[in-house]
Amino acid sequence: QFPFGRRLPCDIYWHGVSFHDNNIFSGQVNKFPGMMETVRKITLSRAMRTMQDLFPLEYNFYPRSWILPEELPLFVAEVRMMKDRNPSWKPTFIVKPDGGCQGDGIYLIKDPNDIRLTGSIQSRPAVVQEYICKPLLVDKLKFDIRLYVLLKSLEPLEIYIAKDGLSRFCTEPYQEPTLKNLHQVFMHLTNYSLNIHSGNFIHSASVNTGSKRTFSSILCRLSSRGADVKKLWSDIISLVIKTIIALTPELKVYYQSDIPAGKPGPTCFQILGFDILLMKNLKPMLLEVNANPSMRIEHEQELSPGVFENVPSPVDEEVKVAVIRDTLRLVDPQKKKRKDTQSLPSPTTLILCCRCQSLEQVPEANEELPDAGPAARPESDIPRSREAALPSLCLKQVFPKYAKQFSYLRLVDRVAALFIRFLGVKGTTKLGPTGFRTFIRNCKLSNSNFSMAAVDILYIDITRRWNSMGIDHKEPGMCLQAFVEAFFCLAQKKYKSLPLHEQVASLVEFCERHLAALRGKRLVWGCG
Ligand code: ADP
Repeated sequence: QFPFGRRLPCDIYWHGVSFHDNNIFSGQVNKFPGMMETVRKITLSRAMRTMQDLFPLEYNFYPRSWILPEELPLFVAEVRMMKDRNPSWKPTFIVKPDGGCQGDGIYLIKDPNDIRLTGSIQSRPAVVQEYICKPLLVDKLKFDIRLYVLLKSLEPLEIYIAKDGLSRFCTEPYQEPTLKNLHQVFMHLTNYSLNIHSGNFIHSASVNTGSKRTFSSILCRLSSRGADVKKLWSDIISLVIKTIIALTPELKVYYQSDIPAGKPGPTCFQILGFDILLMKNLKPMLLEVNANPSMRIEHEQELSPGVFENVPSPVDEEVKVAVIRDTLRLVDPQKKKRKDTQSLPSPTTLILCCRCQSLEQVPEANEELPDAGPAARPESDIPRSREAALPSLCLKQVFPKYAKQFSYLRLVDRVAALFIRFLGVKGTTKLGPTGFRTFIRNCKLSNSNFSMAAVDILYIDITRRWNSMGIDHKEPGMCLQAFVEAFFCLAQKKYKSLPLHEQVASLVEFCERHLAALRGKRLVWGCG
């Protein structure tokens, strides 16, 4: 606990909420700069939309979404058009305030005109999304899955998924949405924080029953009904990888701004909470990503009216303890040292916990640790000396393990690399007009059909529109999403007849080639 700062650096910094410490020059921090902003409902929806524009089939696991208030006319027009095309389509939509959590301010609508744009909660920016009307039910109840994902590193990309997660149940039997039941939150929203207030909520000592269960217990049940559980897991793994691929461009912009390359700084890792809904046909759909998933392993119990006590929650303990323990094992700085020197571990790894203000020590090998549960299997790559006493890893590496299948999706990452290259001044996340002009010149994108005056107009038009959407007024200039939009425009202009992802891939290659040639020339000049 260092309320007034600290003199000695730590190996691992465990922050409660976000990456917010500019005085860390080494070690590892459990938060990425900008993660909170990147996974907000609006930003996530925008990132997913970009990927859906490029790869519609690969990204059909995210419900169609519109951003309010600016896309309200588009939403109304698109719904009208789809209804005209298919009069039997009777959709339901879910409106979710941006930055909201625990079901706060969420409501369902049948008609786009029912969006509430007045009032304090309702006037907040929000996402309106197609409501998944046919979820998979267990015991007649809707439930969602909370999966824990470790983003161990951004560059190179390293992703781990926990082998078990939580299933959080509604507390009223599910019925497809009708005007009569739209308001029944215990039927439609799976949030623990809401359902805990229902008289039907069941706290269970078993991980297989009650209103919160392990995901593995659901898988067992599905498997006994003959469901293809292997396929379901593989769909979930690809959902997680694709989602992180959609988030990395923005994260890299924040990263270079807070931790510039070549300067001393920490490395980052982060545990994310993925909320996933299974459709009746077992297709997993992404609902949202949480940058700060709750790691509580207790719940409140009302002993007598108004008197509460914290009691252990076996299901939370089973899943979450393993996630935290294995995260520490995977990022353990002593592990690398041990590998290097083959010596015994030093006694303690220091963890700074900013929110709970406590200093803790990672237990030594022979201290007793909780069991990882039946799903755990031995891993071979862990040094035996200390790891032998620990349960096997619950976190399974999925990237770079499956990198080959997914690398073609990392197109916006390459666009972001171009953006970052021309940002220039350190500590910025927005591109100025000169940076944009330099990008156009160095990549040889201007010609008689596309003059530098047209370049300036493109910059001004797109930047002004993005800045008017009120996302980040603090810094002037072109944000990454605006640059991506401008890049797509340029790609469409240059490679008219191709599908969008091929247009963008061709332009990325074109730019990379010109920049490599320029670098080559500069090296020759330098030598000369
Ligand atoms: P919050 O951050 O407030 O929890 P979520 O996006 O997780 O917001 O939504 C809350 C709950 O609403 C989810 O747990 C899920 O039960 C339900 N929900 C959210 N989006 C959809 C959707 N598109 N279709 C069906 N149910 C949804």
